[in-house]
Amino acid sequence: MKITIIGAGIGGLTTAIALKQKGFEIEIFESTPIFKKAGSGINLAINAMQIYKKLGLSDTIFEAGSLTNAVNITDEKLNPISAMELKHFEEKYKVQSVAIHRATLHQILLDQLADVPIHLNKKVKALQQFEKEIELDFEDGTSHKATILIGADGIHSVIRKSIFDNTRIRKAKQICWRGITKIELPKKYQTELNEPWGKGKRFGFVAIGKNEYYWYALANYKNNYEEEFQNIDLVDFYSDFHPIVPKIINSTPKENLLTNEMLDLKPISSWHKKNICLLGDSAHATTPNLGQGACQAIESSMVLANCLAKHKSTEKAFLEFQKIRRKKAVEIVNTSWQLGKIAHLENSLLIKLRNFFLSKTPKKMASKQSERMFKIDE
Ligand SMILES: Cc1cc2nc3c(=O)[nH]c(=O)nc-3n(C[C@H](O)[C@H](O)[C@H](O)COP(=O)(O)OP(=O)(O)OC[C@H]3O[C@@H](n4cnc5c(N)ncnc54)[C@H](O)[C@@H]3O)c2cc1C
Repeated sequence: MKITIIGAGIGGLTTAIALKQKGFEIEIFESTPIFKKAGSGINLAINAMQIYKKLGLSDTIFEAGSLTNAVNITDEKLNPISAMELKHFEEKYKVQSVAIHRATLHQILLDQLADVPIHLNKKVKALQQFEKEIELDFEDGTSHKATILIGADGIHSVIRKSIFDNTRIRKAKQICWRGITKIELPKKYQTELNEPWGKGKRFGFVAIGKNEYYWYALANYKNNYEEEFQNIDLVDFYSDFHPIVPKIINSTPKENLLTNEMLDLKPISSWHKKNICLLGDSAHATTPNLGQGACQAIESSMVLANCLAKHKSTEKAFLEFQKIRRKKAVEIVNTSWQLGKIAHLENSLLIKLRNFFLSKTPKKMASKQSERMFKIDE
């Protein structure tokens, strides 16, 4: 049985690896003409690393990235508000969380698929779904017939829009800048992810290699982020944070900077229709406040491969896949959306109250929430 995947992002490639290991024949179509070395990192939490362990990739990823063993929320001066040590989960699940350059991860995944056809510069323009077949039209005028189609084509998925009406992308009204820099920081930052929260803005940084850091900075906008932040000087904008923050920004080569608007997909009730199934951001895109978007795509990849291997009927496989995965994925989307609002309060009194309550949250309660996130759906 041949499976066609649209999209060679983390979700599409991980699904291809999982399917290949189950003996399926796969073919991938990707819109980009060339894979670029994007200037950003990614955090692979303990749930994602469990999947990569099952796929035999966790050691390679661990060696190419950098261990993260604690996640700290702080105030803008890096005074702790809440801290999550990952030791308990590392011992329980026998994997560790890794921060890695996205391009490095991408290459590791591609290396597993050397014998799988990956057609670049193939942007799906439209599709027609028939009982036993799907006809795909690409923007370059070519077409392709598929029997089973997985739409891993991201938040703006053409595949999703072709099979479902009325799906809605939500704007969190936050802008995000991301960068990678080589800089020497105090040793403790080599293994901790720190996220200082300020007034309507925050910053996060984590090592992806020795003295190499990935950082992200987010801020509220009112109506139009392009206009409101047109001439932004980020070093100046974050000068009210701990001096490490502007120092990190200042050390970053400008060409490594990425700017994005924060979006998610309002949870949709179904991820599949007949012989087409959505995967990753196309089905359950989330704001990145929990660092779980790709991790959820990775979890979905394994479950989808297992279901397709288990069921003769593709529709039954897709149905079971959604049954196993949807609840947690939707929980993540909703929790992340709320967390984004809490992290970006602008009222000083509310910020004080938030920080107080967060610092008093019992460790057991926080740990229970993390447990839900790190326990993989199977
Ligand atoms: C600022 C930010 C920080 C984040 N940090 C984290 C983090 O630390 N940890 C984490 O787990 N997640 C994080 N995420 C989320 C994560 O990036 C996404 O959830 C993840 O990349 C989704 O993977 P995907 O393969 O489903 O989609 P994508 O990565 O969007 O891949 C989709 C692919 O499909 C291709 N494509 C699109 N349209 C077409 C078409 N019409 N035809 C053919 N190909 C097409 C695209 O070119 C792309 O290669 C973050 C997101 C943002 C915005």
